[in-house]
Amino acid sequence: MKIIVNKKPKEVIDNIKKILDDVKISFTSNKILINNFEYGKIYDKLPLIENIKGVERIILKNEELMPLVYSYRERINKKIITAGPCVIDDWDIFIKTAKELEKLNITAIRTPLFKPRSLPYGWEGHGISGIKKLAEIKKEIKTPFIMEILDPHVIERVYDIVEIIQIGARNMKNYVLLKEAAKTKRTILLKRQPHATIREFLYSCEYLLKYGSQKIILCERGDNISDGISSINIKLIKDIKKQIKIPIIADISHSAKKREKVFDFAKKIKNIADGIMVETSICPDKSTIDTKQIIDINEFKKILKLIR
Ligand code: PEP
Ligand code: MN
Repeated sequence: MKIIVNKKPKEVIDNIKKILDDVKISFTSNKILINNFEYGKIYDKLPLIENIKGVERIILKNEELMPLVYSYRERINKKIITAGPCVIDDWDIFIKTAKELEKLNITAIRTPLFKPRSLPYGWEGHGISGIKKLAEIKKEIKTPFIMEILDPHVIERVYDIVEIIQIGARNMKNYVLLKEAAKTKRTILLKRQPHATIREFLYSCEYLLKYGSQKIILCERGDNISDGISSINIKLIKDIKKQIKIPIIADISHSAKKREKVFDFAKKIKNIADGIMVETSICPDKSTIDTKQIIDINEFKKILKLIR
């Protein structure tokens, strides 16, 4: 940690020592360097240090702010592929879609029972009432299930049927949900909220690691440029990959928004991301949500070939 000062460092250090004990302090003409501090504990003291006369600015490295994110290491030897419907609506279509996906040896099948809707008039999925049926289907499918959870109270109801808990873009900063999801020790897929910065995204990830997550997949899902038009932030994926060792995949459906564009988005991120999330169904036109962006299984197979 560096503290930039506009007074003689010695005049500031005595006051710093009153706030931080047990740290190693050194200095140059306009900088004070603090080492050997305990991560976590120091953060609450920062406002007090900022308040000391002569302190201009405090600079913390990313590793100091997010020690768990920056020390996380995972080697990936296979692309992460998650695919399936936007929402489970018709059960028959879902079962047939899941069986097709099962043949393709993917990482996880999307099994959304709970849908966050931007307007309060849309259908929100089968919800709790779909859990029993989904549990029956699970007996026939070996591929892991991934499901977005909106409410911490629901986690234990679906714990036995989902191997991966998805935190949706809207909930990236829902710290209560992040903590409860992390405590399960299930793999978490964390989506970036549109327009969130890398730091904001990774702060949420630090929450997950602090509260117990051992395996995390990050997911870039694009920014909304204007109504109905989205993008994918390729630079952000590259920057994250340069800085940390947590896998990051790209949601090429919610970023492309139109099925004709999904393949192109797959091409764009092919050599950059660690995998993809795609909305696919045996009957895209029958989906009640995001109908225009869902691709059929044949198109999905083409994308798989390209990505793998
Ligand atoms: C989803 O993946 O089902 C979803 C709702 O996406 P997002 O959270 O990115 O909007
Ligand atoms: Mn969708």
